[in-house]
Amino acid sequence: MSNYFDDFPEENPKNGVGKQFNFELAQYFREQQESSDEATSEIITLEEASKALIEQEEREQRELKLEFLSRIEECPHCNETELNIYHFTRELFRYECQCCGIYGNGINEAEAYQAMLLAIEEGFDWRKHQVAL
Ligand SMILES: [Zn+2]
Repeated sequence: MSNYFDDFPEENPKNGVGKQFNFELAQYFREQQESSDEATSEIITLEEASKALIEQEEREQRELKLEFLSRIEECPHCNETELNIYHFTRELFRYECQCCGIYGNGINEAEAYQAMLLAIEEGFDWRKHQVAL
């Protein structure tokens, strides 16, 4: 069904720019708006993709870390039984509370424990201060 404004687009109030009727300019603005919408949705898609990638990497890192989990003890800081003790290598030990976030690394358990006690005083949180394993 033919619309009156299809034949006389310059009379369509939707094509109004300011107080003048300017079909081409209105068309131009519409196209600009559409391409800007496309760019925005592309950015959102990219952000979602990189966010998903980061989440996947974090999940994989958590799973990988669990392979080195030696045992879980009570945390001397928050008293929750969420103090993970990792034996990553023969000379890399790590205490890491999943609840309050304190942590300490050392070449043996005693040293890692001391480092963690120091972290309590310093207020370190492994979730905020990401360090290489
Ligand atoms: Zn804790």
